[in-house]
Parts: sequence; C-alpha cells; structure tokens
Amino acid sequence: MKAAVLERPGVIKIEELDKPSPGPGEILVRVKSVGVCGSDIHYYRHGRIGAYVVEKPIILGHESSGEVAEVGEGVNSLRVGDRVSLEPGIPCRKCVFCKTGRYNLCPDVVFMATPPVDGAFVEYVTFPEDFAFKLPDNVSFDEGALIEPLAVGVYASERAGVKPGLSAVVLGAGPIGLVTLQAAKAYGASPVVVLDISDFRLNMARKLGADFVIDSRDTQALEKVLDAVGGGGADLVFEAAGAVPTIQMTTKIAKRGGKVVFIGLSAKDMVDYNVVEVSGKELDVLGIFRYANVYRKAIDMVSAGKIDLKSMITHHFPLERTQDALDLADTKKNEAIKVIVNP
Ligand SMILES: [Zn+2]
Ligand SMILES: [Zn+2]
Repeated sequence: MKAAVLERPGVIKIEELDKPSPGPGEILVRVKSVGVCGSDIHYYRHGRIGAYVVEKPIILGHESSGEVAEVGEGVNSLRVGDRVSLEPGIPCRKCVFCKTGRYNLCPDVVFMATPPVDGAFVEYVTFPEDFAFKLPDNVSFDEGALIEPLAVGVYASERAGVKPGLSAVVLGAGPIGLVTLQAAKAYGASPVVVLDISDFRLNMARKLGADFVIDSRDTQALEKVLDAVGGGGADLVFEAAGAVPTIQMTTKIAKRGGKVVFIGLSAKDMVDYNVVEVSGKELDVLGIFRYANVYRKAIDMVSAGKIDLKSMITHHFPLERTQDALDLADTKKNEAIKVIVNP
C-alpha cells in the first residue's frame, strides 16, 4: 500500500509499505478521506508541537474516514463494506479519567499522527472497532473525516452549556471557530457573533449561520461586539483564534456571570490576562482538550442537516500530492478552509 510519510520537516515522500492486518477487536479500514489539520501543518513545518517531537519518519493525518475492508477476530458491530469515521484518540480505558467518561484526559491516550503514532495519509489503517463510527448513507466520506474537528465544536458547546436564550461570541473563524459557530447555533445560541481578521473567513462564517461578523482589526471591534450581543456582554465567549489580543478581549466581551471557553492552542503559553475582571464579573473560565463522547452526536447532527461541513471543504488532493495539500493549507489561508486528501 502507498503511504505519505513525513521523512523530516518539510519533506513528504510516497512510500510502499506492507498492508497491515487487523488484530482481535480491530478492523482494517480502506482510507477514503483525510482532513488536513493545523497540527499536521505544524509537524510538517516545524517537526514538533510542545513536548511531541518528530524523531523518526511519521505518517500524519488524524481526521479520517473510510470503508471497512476486513474485520479481526471478535469484531461484531461492523462488517466489511461499512462506511466509518475514525475517532483518532484511543485511551487506555482503565484509568480514572477513562472510567469517569473524561477519556480525552487519559494520560496514556494513543492519538493518530501525534509522534510516534502514525496517522491516516495512507491507503489502509487498522483501528479498534469501538472508536470507528458507522456513517449513515447521507453523510459522505469527506464529511466523515471532518467529524473530527466538528467534535471539538460540539464538545465545547456541551461543556459551555450552550442552550437557547444564551448569546455567544466566537473569536477566530478558522476551521475550529467555524465548527464552534455551527455547533453553538445548533444548540440554540442566539445571536452568535464571529470575529476574524480575514474577509474570506468572515464571509464563510456568515454563510454558515453567524448572525453578525466583525473584523477584529477594526478599532471599534469591541464596541461592535457588545452592540451586537446586547445585554451588557456575551453569555458565552469561545476563544478559537489563539492570539494574544483575542485572548485578552475575552474578559471584556463576556457578560457578568458569563463563561469564557478556551478551545485549541494559544500561540504563546504565558499571556497577560485580566484576572481582576474574571473575579469582578464572576466569569467561569473553561479549557477544552479535544473531546469525549460526542462522535455519534456529531455524526447525527450532520446527517440531520444541522451542520454544514461540505461548505467548509475548499480543496481536494490525491494521496500522492499530500505535500501539496499541506503547503496549500499552510500558505493560502485566504482561500483554503478545509483541505482534504483522498487516498
Ligand atoms: Zn484536527
Ligand atoms: Zn485512560
């Protein structure tokens, strides 16, 4: 089988590898669609994210879907030919976090495309049956791959307690901001306001249901946000830009008694933050790390037409051009939202 292997930062080569066979409880998946994620781009360019370092060649890609090609011993929930979306983080299933349902916090999680674990820019992968979710007929393989980023938005909405009657502001209209916008809308938030520095991304946010979009470079941005949400500030503020100015803006945007939710990674780990405002306004500040127990729900929301993932897909590449896919997603932020590789 063919695989797109990151040999060293900046260099991806197509190699012939042996096709794996599924062990007990595993399926063999013929990979159909893989989304390019910011973390793939980071490993590709810089060879590391924090403590995770690419020390030997690795296959990237963790947003994937495919068709079951073989089933291992004891697999009974899936059959050859089933279409599945793969939840890429496999936890230990035994620790206190796993046992209490917060398996995203499992210290022993094995996560696709996080060194040294290989990912899905490849023709076949083996996968545990219980982290492969069957796709309904009306959800495509491309959408099936993007259940992964959507899961982040759905989980963030659940953790924030989004419900009708609450207003929300999403800072950043990259892929995670856009799925958070859509999940917050689907859970009933209104209005939902989105800020970004790119007109292209703000237009996408509007198309995907944002009630107001605001250019965060505007000197009046804060006033405009407060005006749009009304009521003295937003009930919920989702920070999905990871930039210092937007991080600092969160306490100004939140209503007294509101919630600030940090999704994804900040470019800097130490940031000046107005903790006096956090106390004075009695804000709840929440962190989000990936997601847990939301894949089935996210698939159902797409199947029911409550979430539009198709509009977020701007480019497709074959496996042979995985390097071009990563380059494009990295350098053309004004025309690319989600780039998909189709092995
Ligand atoms: Zn991702
Ligand atoms: Zn665990």
